[in-house]
Amino acid sequence: MKKILLDASRLPEFDNHELVAFTADRKSGLKSFIAIHNTNLGPATGGTRYWAYDSEEEAFRDVLRLSRAMTYKCALARVPYGGGKGVIIANSHHPRRRKILAAYAKRVNLLEGSFYTGEDVGITPDDISVLARQSHFIIGREKFAGDPSPWAALGVFFALQAGLEVVFGNADITGRTFAVKGLGKVGGALCELLYRRGGTLIGADIDPDRVRSAKRRFPRIKIVEAKEIHRQRVDVYAPCALGGDFNKKTIPQLRCQVICGGANNQLSSEKDGERLHGWGILYIPDYLANAGGLINVVSELDKRGYSSRRVRKKVKDIRKTAKKIIMLSEKLNKPTSDVADRLAERIFKNGKRRKK
Ligand code: NAD
Repeated sequence: MKKILLDASRLPEFDNHELVAFTADRKSGLKSFIAIHNTNLGPATGGTRYWAYDSEEEAFRDVLRLSRAMTYKCALARVPYGGGKGVIIANSHHPRRRKILAAYAKRVNLLEGSFYTGEDVGITPDDISVLARQSHFIIGREKFAGDPSPWAALGVFFALQAGLEVVFGNADITGRTFAVKGLGKVGGALCELLYRRGGTLIGADIDPDRVRSAKRRFPRIKIVEAKEIHRQRVDVYAPCALGGDFNKKTIPQLRCQVICGGANNQLSSEKDGERLHGWGILYIPDYLANAGGLINVVSELDKRGYSSRRVRKKVKDIRKTAKKIIMLSEKLNKPTSDVADRLAERIFKNGKRRKK
């Protein structure tokens, strides 16, 4: 692994983060970053990613981007929390995986409730149990909120309906075509919602097991190579893998009308929001569409206790917020990504901590 020293505050991703911590533990093999972007609205919250990053710099930049996005996500989802994120740098088959997770949870405890965390890419429900045994600041626990992915997919589904309504005049799924990149927890659950309602699916995943499972669950799905999925002629393209899908090379290759997916940080840069707007492709901002998972897990912290009924109601509101952003974008002739960012900033910059 490449080792470098960075002047962190000079990175564009730094964006006034309130705190960034690096933690390592030789005994277990833990190496991780925890980032807290903004706590104006409440304690930071955001999942922990477990990933075999190629370098510490890559992991560092990732945690900064992800935690910043959580601030925006919390603001638009109207939950009284701020943005944070953790990343663990390790191979998924690491022999001391459980020890790494336990050591990480103890580091989370040091933040004394300024950071709540749970599942993200590479973290399983079993991992959540390991973390929760060591820390009271783990959310999305079994028997409480549980796995956030189906809720994240449901939020994407509602956001996507707002897009269909504006572009096609109705939100019907039957007869529409969808390309889904990443057939994992969120992508798989989204496929389920679309397939059940008569949507035509094209999917791709780099993991052959995930492809096999998708073919079993959705017998009529068409599978294409991962590098071809964004080129499919479809009504909606749903990126549900990792981030960075859209840039000046990939955007001209798109043949969809709407982009709405679960992956975090889909735009490689702010400019890409403008590019999509220029190409006449309706982009539903990722952090708005995929907020269902967040809404579900923070409900566990509600003093009234977890309620799936309240979660569903709030997740459904994503459709209304998406519609509002799309309409404003049309009115102002500005990219949806810009409109969403300004709206979120208005909320968290002027925001006061509310009672949970
Ligand atoms: P996951 O690990 O279950 O699924 C991701 C899938 O993407 C995997 O099957 C992986 O093989 C595949 N993949 C990776 N790179 C790929 C590529 N280049 N082409 C095709 N497939 C590729 O993770 P998940 O929980 O489904 O999360 C997916 C995305 O959604 C992530 O960006 C995550 O941050 C975001 N997200 C997840 C949640 C949640 O609750 N799980 C909530 C909000 C946002």
